[in-house]
Amino acid sequence: MFKRARLVLATWFTLALAVTLLAVGGVSYVLIRDDLDNEIDESLTSTVATVNDLDPFQDRSPGETHGPRGGGPSQASTQTGGEQAVDYDRLPPGVPSDVFIVYTDGEGSILGNPRGVDIDDVEFGDLCVEGSTDWSTSEVSTATGHYRFISLPDDRAGEWIHIGRSLEARDRQLRTLSMVFLIGGLGGVAASAAGGLWLAGVALKPIRASFERQRRFVSDASHELRTPLAVLRANGELLQRHPQDTVAQNIDQVDAITAEAEAMTKLVEDLLLLARADEGAANLAHEPVALGAVAEELGRDMEALAKQRGILLQVEAEPVEVDGDRHRLRQLGAILLDNALKYTPAGGTVSLRCARAGRWVELSVTDTGPGIPTAEQTKIFDRFVRADSARTRAAGGTGLGLAIAKWIAEAHGGRIAVESHPGHGARFTVRVPVSD
Ligand code: ADP
Repeated sequence: MFKRARLVLATWFTLALAVTLLAVGGVSYVLIRDDLDNEIDESLTSTVATVNDLDPFQDRSPGETHGPRGGGPSQASTQTGGEQAVDYDRLPPGVPSDVFIVYTDGEGSILGNPRGVDIDDVEFGDLCVEGSTDWSTSEVSTATGHYRFISLPDDRAGEWIHIGRSLEARDRQLRTLSMVFLIGGLGGVAASAAGGLWLAGVALKPIRASFERQRRFVSDASHELRTPLAVLRANGELLQRHPQDTVAQNIDQVDAITAEAEAMTKLVEDLLLLARADEGAANLAHEPVALGAVAEELGRDMEALAKQRGILLQVEAEPVEVDGDRHRLRQLGAILLDNALKYTPAGGTVSLRCARAGRWVELSVTDTGPGIPTAEQTKIFDRFVRADSARTRAAGGTGLGLAIAKWIAEAHGGRIAVESHPGHGARFTVRVPVSD
């Protein structure tokens, strides 16, 4: 499922980048091509103006009969004069160096090529539109070159002036640009595919971890519920076998059913609380809580249980205050105290302390029980983890208490830690910021 999601994310990411690159590349290409074409057109049209202004026919041969017409619809030669021969090999002054001029007759036969450009394979006849009085622009591709021409007719003499420029340099620039865009684009798309796959993997990692956690949580919870359900069922079946018996006669089964139902209720409550905490829906109150007073109250409430188990319970509490949820903070203290009383054998001591330590309020529960193996100390705050399965299961533990305690401590901006030397008891310490 996550592999597919990763692939889909990376594909969309790559597609989005490819479309963006294509759009940016396409627009850039068209803009640059238009810019190059404009520059070429400008050099050609400025030559038309130069040719018209200077009147090269007059310049090269005063009084001769030819003159360029055109230069736009409004331009027209007014040249009239004598019968002197035209020097077709003379270039009118002011023509840019990359522009050339070719004189042809109406059929396109070359009369002059002052720059001596190699344009023998150009069909000039196609550029001479019969009867035209205006100049026209055309692009010509031959085996040897690619040109743009402006052709000006001189209708009286039937001559044409073709002002041309080679498009080779412009074509080369556009080819290089296409290559750069193509290689850059393909490289970019390939890199984005790899990067997208990596990024999608990184982005999905916490989701995957959270999904895995949820899956494990549900499976562990189902597993935890199976045992009490089996006990309930077995006891129920036992009762069904003797329908005529009184409740008193089967009090053991009835007690077992009640005890399992109670344990299941607690388990379901804990599960619900953790599920809400995961969703961020377990709303906590934010009010001043006299944590010292809460600790004293807890000590008083647990006194009887400690006595019953033959454990000495000591409580030392300063009058300190924190901001938070009184009910949840009391629950946290109860979980730690309950564990200490649960795992400490008779004759042991459990101490509950609540005191200020700098800008923190420290609540600690110390016992003289069996302690927790070092390797387990980092795991016991995880859900359904029991350091000594057989012992703790027998003690009625579900492995959710410390997970809830950790959540409560962190939800109050604090943290929880354990110190223990196996065989020498354990100390759980909770630090919560002191109320301002
Ligand atoms: P449980 O409901 O099993 O007590 P917890 O989450 O409260 O679950 O505790 C997790 C495990 O940590 C317990 O199963 C037990 O093995 C260990 N543990 C917790 N508190 C103590 C303690 N005071 N002394 C020894 N082991 C403890």
